[in-house]
Formats: sequence, structure tokens, C-alpha cells
Amino acid sequence: MSKQDQASHKDPHPRHRMPASISRTSGRPRLLRWGLCALLLAAPASAVMVAPLQAQSRAELDKVLRRKLLANGMEVIVVENHGVPIATLEINVRNGAFTQSPEYAGLAHMYEHMFFKANKDLPDAEAFTERAGELGAVFNGTTQEERVNYFLTLPADSVVGGLKFLASALINPSFREDELAAEKEVVLGEYDRNEAQPGFDFQQKATALLYPGQFSRKNTIGDRKVIANVTPAQMREIQRKYYVPNNSALIVTGDVDPEKIFAMAEQIFGGWPKGADPFVADPIPAIPALESNKAQISVEPINAVAVLIQWQGPSVGKDPGATFAADVFSDVLNTPGSTFQKNLVDTGLWQGVGVNYYTLNHTGPISISGQTTPDKYRAAMAALEREIAKFTDPTYITPREIEAVKAQRAVSSAFGIEKASEIAHTIGFWWSVANLDYFMSYTDQMAQQRITDLMRYTRTYIAGKPRVTNVLLSAEARRAIGLTESELLTPTTRPVVRP
Ligand SMILES: [Zn+2]
Repeated sequence: MSKQDQASHKDPHPRHRMPASISRTSGRPRLLRWGLCALLLAAPASAVMVAPLQAQSRAELDKVLRRKLLANGMEVIVVENHGVPIATLEINVRNGAFTQSPEYAGLAHMYEHMFFKANKDLPDAEAFTERAGELGAVFNGTTQEERVNYFLTLPADSVVGGLKFLASALINPSFREDELAAEKEVVLGEYDRNEAQPGFDFQQKATALLYPGQFSRKNTIGDRKVIANVTPAQMREIQRKYYVPNNSALIVTGDVDPEKIFAMAEQIFGGWPKGADPFVADPIPAIPALESNKAQISVEPINAVAVLIQWQGPSVGKDPGATFAADVFSDVLNTPGSTFQKNLVDTGLWQGVGVNYYTLNHTGPISISGQTTPDKYRAAMAALEREIAKFTDPTYITPREIEAVKAQRAVSSAFGIEKASEIAHTIGFWWSVANLDYFMSYTDQMAQQRITDLMRYTRTYIAGKPRVTNVLLSAEARRAIGLTESELLTPTTRPVVRP
């Protein structure tokens, strides 16, 4: 799921419709200095993208998207669009929180910052910024759980210069000790700003509970101590393992000629030597299953009560079918007028409640997040539990609702390939988390989902499965409700008692 709402340096990754209190806490990217680096925190509700290219069928995509695999394994993807004389050049690397052992927690993001520093061709960060200025380029990068990207938007006649500029930073970074020491303060500042956001701890704890023993592989912002002690050797280790052509994609969109881009890519990136497959050499450990329900109550001075319930969802590589079913299921339940919305929001019990699956290759989270008031909390939760209990009922969703969701996508497809920079980010996300074929077939796959597929998904990942129930509220509301963690651990048997 992914939908784009980027405006220049704004969040390249679309958030789902979330209740205000949660979206506030859900990790909008903090933009630094020259607007560099949008860190996309693992926020359940946040993370979330809607349909790739907002619904382009494979046949439609085949007409506009061209691809070429270089001999060294680098994938080159081009989407031509001659509307305006600009182009976006984007590098995606399959790196991010998921590659981080605890000693590296936060260093995928640290590395992203160092991309914009000295390299073989530019002596320091100032020279880097100056060169971008000469090219007329706007540049940025983002780090997520399973992808890191770097992108430039520039006049179409600067494309060759732009590709060379990216190549130097990608292939030959210097990791100067003084620049790393200075930049780590910037990253620590980013950490501090994140930490100061309401709900940051709540979110972090929720993620730690959902991924027992593997939090570092979901913790994009990372660990303060690890960041504070970062060394150039660690940056080189990340480079050696993950920054290899066979783990990278170049995506070029906009006013360009695909054949010329392929030729330039061959010339500029073709000499970059292939590396070992990072995931064969050093496999990502499996995320252990949750063995029992977990709960968290966090207290912060907020007026509402925010609830976040999460399950371990499917992984793209292991159960791609369920990832499509998950997106359709979420779409149906989030549609105004669905049984779910009628019973929870239209009744006034919840101010808002949304369902989401965040597509990842390593156990994406399924989240239900909602907001209510302290006086309605118990009734609201009881109503939500009743809805969840119906998720495996084949009559809970009607074929008409599934068709309505498809129709909505068809309408949104009209806006599909308009903004070249957004397309680059979208393609890059799906390339990293899945692969280009997953992206190309997404809309067709979504259209094929039937109720039986949705039921298989809810039975496999939700019904009776251990979950994490997180509640964020004020100390006063907690007292008034008399909320305990133990009642959150046994949701279905809890009697409904009004405060
Ligand atoms: Zn950053």
C-alpha cells in the first residue's frame, strides 16, 4: 500500500487516513537543514502507502515503463513523461532498518546522511551542495524499514551530469571522519526531535512488542548510543555489504529517452563491480512469531484515547497473495459506509478508526488504530472487539463492497503517472520491498481478490492470533477508566463495564 503525497521536500510516503492523534505521532519526516533526509518512521498507521501508481494495470504500465538489467545486476527503470522538461533520478538500495543488528540500530539512516557528503569527486559537503546547485537539482533521501532512496529532480538537459553526480556519491563515498562526527550530531538532533513528538515512545514500544527480539530491524531512527558511537568503519561495512549494484536500482522518470538513459547508465554505472548477494552472505533472521498477547498502556497529556492494535502480518516474499488480500480488506473496511465504519464511527463510539497493512518483505504489521474519548472508551473497545470477531465471517464483506473498492481505484488511475518524482519514489519503494513484477502486477492482482482470499488472510493472520494492544491516554483518563494491562491481554473475555 502506498500512495504518494509528496511536494518537493515533503513526505514522499503517503500516510493512511488516520485519526488525528495517531497521525500526529506517526512519524512525519523531519526535514533537516537544506531539507535533507526525510526519515520515515515505522509507524503502523503511518507507513502506508496506497496502491502503486494508484492503479495502473500491467498493460498500461507496460506501455510507459521500460527496464534494463545491467551486467553487474543493477536494475534500470525508466518512465518517460514529456509534460515538463524536468527529470527525476532516483537510486534505491535494499537497505534500511531491516539489515540492522542491535549494534547497527540507526546506522542505515546515518549512512543515508553521509551520502550527501564528500566522495571521490567532491571534497566535502559544501562542494556536494554547490554541484547540486550547478545542476539545478533539488535533492533528498529517505530511510525506511526496507529501503533507502536518494533522488534528484533537475532540468532534463542536466541528466548526464546528474547521473554522474549520483554515481560518485553511491559508488565512492569518502566517509570523512570529521564529516561523520559533524553529521552524527545532526542525526542525534533528528532523534531528539522525533523523541519530543507526542506518541514517539508509544510507537517505539508498540513496535518493540510486535517484533520481540528484532526491534533493531524495525527501528529506523535507531538507538541513540549506537548513533553517538558511529565509526567510518561501520559506514564502510554497510557499503561493502549492501551498496552493491546487484542490490540497487536506478529509476529515471520524466522528460527523458529510455534508450539514452540505458546507454548512459551502462557507461556511468556499468563499471561498478558486482558484489556478493547481501542476503545470501548474511541472511536476515526470521522475525519470531508472537507467542502470546502483549499490551502497553502509555500515559501522556492528551485529551483523546488512542488505541493501536497490531498483528504480525504477511511477508511479500513468503505469502504475496495475502499482501494483496490485506490491501483490499483494509480498503473495504476503511471505506465510509462499510459495516466496520458504520458500527464504530457512525455510532459515535470512535472519532475515527482505520485498518492498515504495511507491505514489507519481513513481516509487515497489520494495524487497527483509532481514537475515542475517555468516557466512550470501554463501549468503543467492546464494539471494536465485536467487529474484529466478525473478520472471518464471509458475509462481513459483500462482493458489492469489493467491487466498489475496485471502482474507486479505476477512478484514481486517471491521476496515475502525472508526477514524475512521485512515480520514481513509488516504483522504488515497491522494487525494494518486493520487486518490479510485484509492482507491475499490483492492480491486476488487487482486482482478482475474492472474499475467499480475504477470509484466508484474516484467518491466517488475525483471527485468534496473538496481538499487541496499545493504549495511549492521559493519567487522568487512565484513572477514570481504571484501565489495566491485564484486561488488554484478554480482550475477548473482558466484561464490558462502563466507567
Ligand atoms: Zn535523517
